[in-house]
Amino acid sequence: MTIIDPDTRPNLYDLSLAELERLLTGWGQPAYRARQIFRQLYVNLAGSPAGMTDLPLALRERLVAETRAGTLTPDRIQTADNGLTRKALFRLAGGAMAESVLMIYPDRATVCVSTQAGCAMGCVFCATGTLGLVRNLSPGEIAEQVIWAARAMRDAAADRGASHATMHAPLPADDRWWAPVESDEQAQTTPASSMARLTNIVFMGMGEPFANYDRWWRAVELLHDPRGMNMGARSLTVSTVGLVPGIRRLATETLPINLAISLHAPNDELRSALIPMNRRYPLAALFDATRDYLTATGRRVSFEYVLLQGRNDEPAHAAELAALLRGETDIEGLPLHLVHVNLIPWNPVPGMPLGRSERRRVIAFQRVLQERGIACTVRVERGVSIAAACGQLAGKKT
Ligand code: SAH
Ligand code: SF4
Repeated sequence: MTIIDPDTRPNLYDLSLAELERLLTGWGQPAYRARQIFRQLYVNLAGSPAGMTDLPLALRERLVAETRAGTLTPDRIQTADNGLTRKALFRLAGGAMAESVLMIYPDRATVCVSTQAGCAMGCVFCATGTLGLVRNLSPGEIAEQVIWAARAMRDAAADRGASHATMHAPLPADDRWWAPVESDEQAQTTPASSMARLTNIVFMGMGEPFANYDRWWRAVELLHDPRGMNMGARSLTVSTVGLVPGIRRLATETLPINLAISLHAPNDELRSALIPMNRRYPLAALFDATRDYLTATGRRVSFEYVLLQGRNDEPAHAAELAALLRGETDIEGLPLHLVHVNLIPWNPVPGMPLGRSERRRVIAFQRVLQERGIACTVRVERGVSIAAACGQLAGKKT
């Protein structure tokens, strides 16, 4: 898949620090200039080399002429949840569209970024899947979405400092995925957010990260680099539809990022009906790879389970899911202390003949799992009104 971009100037956000050093030394510049530029890009969140005032003017001019510091053009920014959820629709070089969502909580701020424009996987409940794959995103295009979110956090903190106009609205309930609570869905009022910086990145926007593994992983390394943004590996989470080679590869990486796997069904027949990719990597193969991942890393895995009214949300499905995880079917189970199920009531996508599970069905499903010793939480979605919730991203103006 080629990336159609008539402008051949390198995007500085596509370059690792080592590559930036090669570029700069090739220009006869000392290597430390590259470190300055890298800091400008990932710490100062510079929009253009013109503003990198710690560089000599001639170098700034050459950078402006011969490189680009970013290639995404925000087409539209929408907000919801009293400004605590923000969705950006970006136009990419060549015209494709991709979306990112920033979600601000009292104790953290998470950006959900896209790794592809569209997606080839065709899951029947997902808005992105209806687009097909438009194209892969480059490392810089993935990283730049994070830069957008980090800038938004910085600007919001600056505004608060200037006007004391803190966001005094009641927050929606937190979606603590990992907390073994009964349900975090209860309405609750929490203090206004004073978060000043981006704390978490989830690769759960448009696209399948493991279908664009190399570019996606380069973005992970760019964002993790301690000489730049320095995002801790534990604050990064990737979600996969279940591409077995990707899970196996992630298990060998040295950076301990978090893994979420989209499960959505307790047996192959139902899972294949919802996720075509299940025919290629059925549950037995997925569980083998997951078990090996758990053994190799010792890190927890989260299974996402989208609840579709009447399709996969019966108590019998929950019991079957518990049996699957516990190894009570003909598929070998998983170490339960390393497994967590995150229930996601389906977010409506116009035109899809599917329904969102009623709340009482969600709670009943959760209870069946918990009674069988499976850690399980319910995700509270953000940004439904602006189609920014999970699976509603379709790169269109809504
Ligand atoms: N391609 C990856 C990551 C992007 S999708 C994956 O499939 O895991 C992120 C999550 O949103 C997945 O768990 C996906 O199944 C879920 N999702 C997709 N459409 C949804 C919808 N309409 N409502 C709720 N969740 C949805
Ligand atoms: Fe692609 Fe994930 Fe949507 Fe499936 S759920 S179509 S893998 S983005």
